[in-house]
Amino acid sequence: MSDKERGASLRKIPKVDELLAAKEMQDLLRSYPHEVVVEGIRRVLDRLRQEILTVAKPAEFSEERFTVATLLPLLTQEMAGQVAPRLKQVINATGVIIHTNLGRSPLSERALQEVMAIARGYSNLEYDLAQGERGSRYAHVEALLLRLARAEGGLVVNNNAGAVLAAINTIAAGKEVICSRGELVEIGGAFRIPDVMAKSNAVLKEVGTTNRTRLKDYEAAISDKTALLLKVHTSNFKVVGFTEEVSLAELVGLGKKHALPVMDDLGSGCLLDLSAYGLAKEPTVQEAVQTGTDVVTFSGDKLLGGPQAGVIVGKKELIDRIKANPITRALRIDKLTLAALEATLIAYLSEGEAIKEIPTLRMLTIPIATLRKQAERLQHLLQQEKAAVAVEVIQETSQVGGGALPLQGLPTWAVAVKPAHGSLQALEAALRQLDSPIIARIANDRLILDVRTIQDEEVPIVARGVAQALKKVAV
Ligand SMILES: *Cc1c(COP(=O)(O)O)cnc(C)c1O
Repeated sequence: MSDKERGASLRKIPKVDELLAAKEMQDLLRSYPHEVVVEGIRRVLDRLRQEILTVAKPAEFSEERFTVATLLPLLTQEMAGQVAPRLKQVINATGVIIHTNLGRSPLSERALQEVMAIARGYSNLEYDLAQGERGSRYAHVEALLLRLARAEGGLVVNNNAGAVLAAINTIAAGKEVICSRGELVEIGGAFRIPDVMAKSNAVLKEVGTTNRTRLKDYEAAISDKTALLLKVHTSNFKVVGFTEEVSLAELVGLGKKHALPVMDDLGSGCLLDLSAYGLAKEPTVQEAVQTGTDVVTFSGDKLLGGPQAGVIVGKKELIDRIKANPITRALRIDKLTLAALEATLIAYLSEGEAIKEIPTLRMLTIPIATLRKQAERLQHLLQQEKAAVAVEVIQETSQVGGGALPLQGLPTWAVAVKPAHGSLQALEAALRQLDSPIIARIANDRLILDVRTIQDEEVPIVARGVAQALKKVAV
């Protein structure tokens, strides 16, 4: 396109005021705030201007391109996009069950019902119905928690990072906390044990080496400045080979000998022994408590399968002190989280119920034959869509995620898609841009859809979405 032609096309772009005055625009002006409409018009016209400046063929810019009738659908879409929530539901086809970037654990039906009921109206959040006076927001889940964890004391805060912060600050501010160099971990989102320690006003006393720490390393570091012995679940990594670590039981023994409390940050924290379901053995919360640990902390939305929360259980005297710390008030759990957490914990009263109704546990324990059937169902639906594509059902590996069982891959079934036209990268990106975004991954020159993390009712949506994305990348 010559400069002259370009200039002529640019001059055809309507003015913002002209569009605002057009009668076809009046519906939009009634539906959206004036500023949103003006901003939307500017963006659509900007895109048109950019297109004229970069596209070579003048034939593409006929008079028709600049009419209100042509621009109206673009404007409508732009306005809808501007007021649509940015936080939206996505379909997780990655096979990573506790996917921190995708919101970790989906809630159970029971938890969702509870959240809705509590959110809709008033509640006895901090009201004692029996006495008719002020009550404690912590009381609701506390009894359940003590029963499930078999602990004397329990407390919930906003998240596990907060739980660790509040516990260390309460027990060890101004004093030393002894922790193995092999456990000074960083968890996703830049949660680093040494940084949390600094913010808790405690002094970290590192002992041992990255790969080997012995009981006598801890013992040699104990002085009158010591306030706490800390053990941290290394979550998302594992030191293998020439290694040695001190067990929780040994640490508890050492704590008793020197009258020092012992804390265990379990990270994922599970109330069920998942080894019964063929998964690797993870220490359970009950085991940590029974070992005599004074304070145990874990997340609500990792293996537990509930809402984001930090759970603290252990000796009553210490838990009561953590409760009274103003930091705990700043990290307090909100009523919607409490509602979801209570409903999730209720399911744990029966192990069978928990496995059936908590999505995270269900996805962890789906029988392999069921996964294969689901993959075949998705393959069939994709073939019905008649998109020009090779669709194969393959064996793959899912990840637990959330720092739990870092070395364990779960055998799964997936659908592998190879588009006839367009690149895999373009297909993967197009899936993310759908109204119901689908998050998938590319491996071995194919797009992989792991059915383990795709909910039953999402399977047809995935089939339609993939077909739609394939069409988009083929042009
Ligand atoms: C995940 C994790 C945390 C942080 O928990 P959040 O609930 O994400 O705040 C702390 N410690 C360990 C060991 C973890 O795995």
